Amino acid sequence: MKTSKQPFRQPEYQRAWREANRERIRERQRIYRKTHPKKRREWERRYQVKYPEKIRAKEKRWQERRKELRKRILERFGAKCFLCGKTNPSKRSLELHHKKGFLNQTQLGGPEGSASWKTLREAEEHPERFALLCGHCHALISFLSNNPEIKNVLLGLI
Ligand SMILES: [Zn+2]
Repeated sequence: MKTSKQPFRQPEYQRAWREANRERIRERQRIYRKTHPKKRREWERRYQVKYPEKIRAKEKRWQERRKELRKRILERFGAKCFLCGKTNPSKRSLELHHKKGFLNQTQLGGPEGSASWKTLREAEEHPERFALLCGHCHALISFLSNNPEIKNVLLGLI
């Protein structure tokens, strides 16, 4: 029997191989996607047309995950402005201030909030890099930060 001499042709063997080399396959796929952006876009477009409900479900899951993460961060920072202590029931105007002074658009509340997933994750993993501020204090700090002397005093405060 010829087929028995070629176990690598058997579907069970192939499945086991894929199972054992999952990381290797993923890495190869990552490289392929990077080196073939056109093909990737085409594939994505086809997928969107074919499975719109799957795309919607995925977006919804991500929204939920963002919501949960925002909630955890608000709890971690006490859900009030670090400077003036203003709490905000809707949590709409509480913003994450990055102490290094970049990433300005970091509104935490609202239906979506403008804080990016990356910023939220950073705030969860390194809360010491951030301060939770109300919109007013955040604007004031951003405004005063233009003066380097005042900026140093402010950075010492928060
Ligand atoms: Zn404030």
